[in-house]
Amino acid sequence: MKIYNTLTRKIEEFSPINPPHVGMYTCGPTVYDYTHIGHLRKYIGDDILRRVLTASGYEVKHIQNVTDVGHLTSDADEGDDKLEKGAKDRGETVWEVAKFFTDYFYKSLDQVNVLRPNTVCRATEHIGEQVKLLEKLVEKGFTYQTEEAIYFDISKFPGYGKLSGQKLEDQKTGARKEVVVDTNKKHPADFALWFFTVGKFKDHTMKWSSPWGEGFPGWHIECSAMSMEYLGDSLDIHTGGIDHIPVHHENEIAQSEAASGQPFVKYWVHHEFLLVEGEKMSKSKKNFYTIDDIKNKGFDPLALRYLFLTAHYRDKLNFTWKSLEASQNALDRLREIIRDWDEPKIGCAQYEQDFMKAVNNDLNIPQALAVMWDMVKSDPPVGEAGYPSSAKAKTILEMDKILGLNLEKYLGKQVEAPEEVMHLVRKREQARNTGDFKEADKLRKEIKKLGFVVEDTPAGSKIKKI
Ligand code: AMP
Ligand code: ZN
Repeated sequence: MKIYNTLTRKIEEFSPINPPHVGMYTCGPTVYDYTHIGHLRKYIGDDILRRVLTASGYEVKHIQNVTDVGHLTSDADEGDDKLEKGAKDRGETVWEVAKFFTDYFYKSLDQVNVLRPNTVCRATEHIGEQVKLLEKLVEKGFTYQTEEAIYFDISKFPGYGKLSGQKLEDQKTGARKEVVVDTNKKHPADFALWFFTVGKFKDHTMKWSSPWGEGFPGWHIECSAMSMEYLGDSLDIHTGGIDHIPVHHENEIAQSEAASGQPFVKYWVHHEFLLVEGEKMSKSKKNFYTIDDIKNKGFDPLALRYLFLTAHYRDKLNFTWKSLEASQNALDRLREIIRDWDEPKIGCAQYEQDFMKAVNNDLNIPQALAVMWDMVKSDPPVGEAGYPSSAKAKTILEMDKILGLNLEKYLGKQVEAPEEVMHLVRKREQARNTGDFKEADKLRKEIKKLGFVVEDTPAGSKIKKI
């Protein structure tokens, strides 16, 4: 498999540190607001990567964090802790808010058929690991302390900026908002590892004791601490949205490599954004739709997954209702076609090969979808041998292990008709069995009035929606 590595800025041949095992860490959600479909694009992208690795024979261990500690997120306004604010607005505790939105996140992901990680790790349940990592950094001299926080001193880590390609002098752009607040920071891009519950954080609800005083961890350290806890000092793959490159992931590298002295991640994979009217869909811009909005407009969540499969993960995708409608139509058409297929047998080797070639080429899923449609539509020319539907059925199930469109539910299956229709279908079968074709014809018309057609096949009656 070939994959684009943000660290080297090249498409590289994937070769894990300890095959066939692959350690994959995907940055999870901050849980103070609803998961939107922009998030879903990123997590579907991760899911595809994981499925491709599994299909290629690797044993993937997939770890994901949940940022349930309230602090300044990259999205937040200066001094604004969104989790604390969300709790106040909703009249709930920060713990309740975090739980509610974590549940909403995983429920949203389930609906678009994203496989659950092998381990979900909550930041609040791993304070000990974060403190341990911090102790190591303090011991090794990579930190300094002010009244407000303990910071990572980026001037002590020569590799700082290697992921984003930014020079230290330019790092101001990536600096977080707390820069402005704490005048004792040495460099704007130095980042907090531990905040003390003083000053503006005096009333912070979430707090823990530490060897340096009561407080709570900074955002970046949770990902370093938890990924290394579950996957060791060096991971094969780490993913995130492209917004994570210049700050969050740069900081993760600095913390992890400073502490362990080992390379932190072999392949960095970053997903492009979902846009709406040309702008990034985001919580703070309030230009977002949730999976419930999609369903309330009559769409199937898997039509959204299909839509995301039509764009390469490193390309921007502008969301429109029209494009979602086109995806819903394509998915409906596909489901209708495969209902008529026979039991899966043997498979279509050439199409499978072409499909895998596309997905193994830096996850070219749009190309893989095109291969799938070529196969679906292929008909042997008159008088020539071609793939029977049983072979296509076998292959489409293989392809769907990666696409994740739940096609098995439709393959060779008739439309689920209401009981009223099924009753008429059974009566018609009886009439045919007793040779009463007049009655059978009358029943066929009644079935049609209810919106279904019935076809007679050697395997029995097949029902289709009109
Ligand atoms: P957050 O919960 O805001 O930290 O976001 C969680 C993940 O979703 C991050 O990896 C973001 O990069 C990603 N993300 C947020 N908004 C979008 C978007 N509009 N399109 C794609 N990914 C996004
Ligand atoms: Zn992270």
